[in-house]
Amino acid sequence: MMSIELPEAQILAEQLKTVIIGKKVINYQLEDYEKMQKIGFMNKNLNDFDRLINKIISNIIARGNVIRIQMTDQVNLIIGPEYGGIIRFYEGNKHHLHKFHLLLTFADQTYLTVRLISMGGIFASLDKELESVYLFRRDFSSKLSPIDSTFSIEGFRNQFNHLNRNLKSILVGKDAIIVGISNSAFQDIIFRAKLHPKRKASSLTSQESEALYNAIRDLINERMRLGGKMDFIDIYGKKGQYVPMMGPNKKGTTCKNCKKPIEKISFGGGQIYLCLECQKDVE
Ligand SMILES: [Zn+2]
Repeated sequence: MMSIELPEAQILAEQLKTVIIGKKVINYQLEDYEKMQKIGFMNKNLNDFDRLINKIISNIIARGNVIRIQMTDQVNLIIGPEYGGIIRFYEGNKHHLHKFHLLLTFADQTYLTVRLISMGGIFASLDKELESVYLFRRDFSSKLSPIDSTFSIEGFRNQFNHLNRNLKSILVGKDAIIVGISNSAFQDIIFRAKLHPKRKASSLTSQESEALYNAIRDLINERMRLGGKMDFIDIYGKKGQYVPMMGPNKKGTTCKNCKKPIEKISFGGGQIYLCLECQKDVE
């Protein structure tokens, strides 16, 4: 699954910042969007995309898994490629464009394409409408982000230690205490921290919660440094170099620490690959 989580959303936003700020949108094209629109992954009224025309890109910010492209006149393009997506930038020949749901043409004949692979969202929204966009509301929130300078061990423990919930629900999904982590990152984080996904936060020792905090930061930093996860493609078409430590790619292999077979369990609405020797369920 080529999910785009915080590291990849950050990479995309940073790259876009260097090439599209100051560019003027002169046209857009939507393709292959009927199904997406039906399930709420796009504006109900497609004419909302007309708002993008003649606007100039002023800033790009990523938070959690979501990218906000700000334009003049309080116009935004919100892109949330939750379960995978490809955002590409092109100069020159239009015939080489990747398949897209949304194509933006800029005044200097450069292009931006956005395609979602699975669940996610593409919304053209005014500032005052942003809170009604679920993905925006969820990630551009007051929740901690692992790359905020305020994401300290103390801050993490304050929100974490007392919770009588399992690690998956605390780190992934709508009730998570932090933004930006989906199933893929979660599996690597708990493997690194040597924790079972069913462990409850309140049961963790001080050492264990520190290991978890460090694993979150290390994973995010490493994935950003390596240009994203290996199935990720950046705006120039370059593939990420981070190979997940856990996940479907480890099926049938053994744990690199203890050599026991990697196992798969169903938990919290998804599959989790783990090493039951290193990640013991002690409760
Ligand atoms: Zn192991």
